[in-house]
Amino acid sequence: MATQTVPSMVAHDSMFDAVLARLDAAAKTMNLSEEVSKVLRNPQKLVKVSLPVTMDNGKVEVFEGYRCIHSTYLGPSKGGIRYAMDVSQDEVMALAAWMSFKCAVANLPYGGGKGGVKCDPRKLSVGELERITRAYTKAMADVFGVDRDIPAPDMGTSAREMAWILDEFNKIHGDDLPGVVTGKPIVLGGSLGRDAATGRGVMVCTKVALKKLNIDPKNATAAVQGFGNVGGHAARLLSEQGIKIVAISDHTGAFYNENGIDIKAALDYAAKNDRVLKGFKGGTEITNEDLLTCKCDVLVPAALQNVITEEIAHKIHAKIVVEGANGPTVPEADHVMREKNILVVPDILANSGGVTVSYFEWVQNKMGYYWSEKEVNDKHDANMELAFASVWENSNTFKTSMRIAAYITALKKIEQAAKLKGFF
Ligand code: NAD
Repeated sequence: MATQTVPSMVAHDSMFDAVLARLDAAAKTMNLSEEVSKVLRNPQKLVKVSLPVTMDNGKVEVFEGYRCIHSTYLGPSKGGIRYAMDVSQDEVMALAAWMSFKCAVANLPYGGGKGGVKCDPRKLSVGELERITRAYTKAMADVFGVDRDIPAPDMGTSAREMAWILDEFNKIHGDDLPGVVTGKPIVLGGSLGRDAATGRGVMVCTKVALKKLNIDPKNATAAVQGFGNVGGHAARLLSEQGIKIVAISDHTGAFYNENGIDIKAALDYAAKNDRVLKGFKGGTEITNEDLLTCKCDVLVPAALQNVITEEIAHKIHAKIVVEGANGPTVPEADHVMREKNILVVPDILANSGGVTVSYFEWVQNKMGYYWSEKEVNDKHDANMELAFASVWENSNTFKTSMRIAAYITALKKIEQAAKLKGFF
């Protein structure tokens, strides 16, 4: 395992640069102390590992794995593990920093971390995925820990991978600590409500944002990009609120229906078709750009980063953008959307429902006492509404966008904790 020194300068146009651009804007607006700003511009720890894994054909492949811990001022680091081909040092650094800010916005006693393995999970067998996950856990055995650094699922990983991590970690340490990962299967100590939590948070934020603009959900329309964990649950929960979903998409295609897509039928279709929408007949096929720019009240990017470019932002018709994905908007597009008076509920607020219920899972694991799904959902909804309200308040106080206000909300707490703990 090699622990790398983090470069103080990162390449232009990187995802981490996008974090720094927002951090700097918020720091200036709120007058953040220079020392705290300097500290937060550099992740606390960055681990890069090489994972030799025997494939089903008997040959050995070497996979690249990362774990970045951005900050631990508010508590142990918390953040998902991503399996995708574009996993990189820059990406995990950005995602870990967003976790620091997200946990602070959501009032959770956590710092921020993120990890990933560069691989295409769709091209790997279950056995290969298990061996990669166990090799990654072994390499991170001294990084993870129930009160140190707690992973969770992200793109390309799910409860299944969390079960392997839990098992491998506890075998190595000779413990039986369910709280070392969250987002695990219920029977292994997972929380009811965790699976749908990020989509649920998107739904709660959408409802509050619609109320702020005096739009009745029953008269509202929405387009959702991505039909995985976040997008699928968000589309379902939004439609259950009476919002008409006019467009949905995944990596295999995008579909539009001005009369509203039957989301239950789309979910059933995907469940029977290798979890993809390709061939779905409940709407006309459009492009993913058409989806982002279609006529609707609410746009939910819930798939990838950097999809709302400056050019796309100029073409967006939605009045509200609720960022289910991490980093779907490039910094240049922020200005365009602000000029167009689009209410953007930023990722570090809008998708914090997942980590909020991950926190509830960790709390239940520590207590050894488990809550009903209703209890989890009620606590989640109340926490999301509170987080939205404090970001909204800072947006008015500092006369700034919800995004910069969310950073300010987070930075105020992190600054206070960092100063109390001190530097040496
Ligand atoms: P997932 O792997 O379950 O789903 C991703 C979805 O995006 C899939 O439907 C996939 O087909 C689609 N997609 C991929 N490429 C696409 C493209 N080019 N165009 C349209 N759709 C495309 O992942 P997820 O867990 O739903 O995560 C989605 C985003 O939400 C990521 O940015 C992730 O970091 C973020 N997020 C996830 C959680 C969580 O709890 N799962 C929490 C917070 C943030």
